[in-house]
Amino acid sequence: MTPAATSRDRFRGCLIGQCLGDALGFIVEGEAPPVCAAYVEKVLKRGRAHEGRRGPYPFGQYSDDSQLARELMQSYAARGEFDAADYAARVAAIFTEGRIVGKGRATEEAAMRLADGVPWQGAGTPPPSAGNGSAMRAGPIGLMFSSDGGALARAAVDQGRITHTDPRCAAGAVAIAGAVSLALDGTAPSLFPERLAAWADPLDAAMAGALRDLGQWLDLAPAGAVGPISRAGLQPGYRDAWQGISPYVVGSVIWSLYAFLRSPDDYWESICTAIAVGGDVDTTAAMTGAIAGARNGLGAVPGDLARRLNDNGTWTYDELAGLADRVWEISLKGGKEP
Ligand SMILES: [Mg+2]
Repeated sequence: MTPAATSRDRFRGCLIGQCLGDALGFIVEGEAPPVCAAYVEKVLKRGRAHEGRRGPYPFGQYSDDSQLARELMQSYAARGEFDAADYAARVAAIFTEGRIVGKGRATEEAAMRLADGVPWQGAGTPPPSAGNGSAMRAGPIGLMFSSDGGALARAAVDQGRITHTDPRCAAGAVAIAGAVSLALDGTAPSLFPERLAAWADPLDAAMAGALRDLGQWLDLAPAGAVGPISRAGLQPGYRDAWQGISPYVVGSVIWSLYAFLRSPDDYWESICTAIAVGGDVDTTAAMTGAIAGARNGLGAVPGDLARRLNDNGTWTYDELAGLADRVWEISLKGGKEP
């Protein structure tokens, strides 16, 4: 890991690393593997990422994954602690105010229930819906609870339950939050699969099993790993229309960890691995970016691209860095005192 990265750098790296991965993936979200592979080789690796565009958005716009991770940090900064009810109100507001970009169906349905007055404990979309919406925004929980694994797991589950109640979604959120906390304290990459599996064990056997299998899949190049990872946690013979990595929580969480762990000291290479496979790549790159940024610090995140980040012209680089600093300050004091 970057030896000079301070813990403040790593908090900044986590949030800005997530937003940049998301913004890079958003350009080709949902595209097939050949399209995404060509984007990585001919655009990202040739210094042309800033030329990208998605619909009305020039490069730099990040999407729902990072908007909702940012809102989680905004809530923590405002409340001085993780407060599920406050966060749920923010999830509802970003939908009802039309600020969400690239929304997911289960999250939107839950947000509408929240907006109708359903308490957060009962608003989540039930199984068999098992998309990656609870995991894509869970990285900041790893910053807030980096020294308390039990509190980390409880908060990751609760922030997820606001929109998704399937146990696979709970385990996916814990895996991403846990990976950020391990990245933050410099845990050896080889220890991640078993450590994260132990966190997932009490929640969901499919996610825990896939996390243990990740130890072997890391020996495979991406072309060999994508098959087993995209099918991880699915019933044999299950088919859907997705090519590459679908929004299913197990496969997308495992792919984001694979992309990080294949090159744990190289933020950019990990983002390229996350995206080149195709599919729901804004989300995989967002999760990978949060973990890689937490390990390597802000200095590892390309600054020229990060300085273009924005959310419809708001929440740009300096504001994101300031928010990360605020969360860092509060977490150092163990929470409470906004
Ligand atoms: Mg998105």
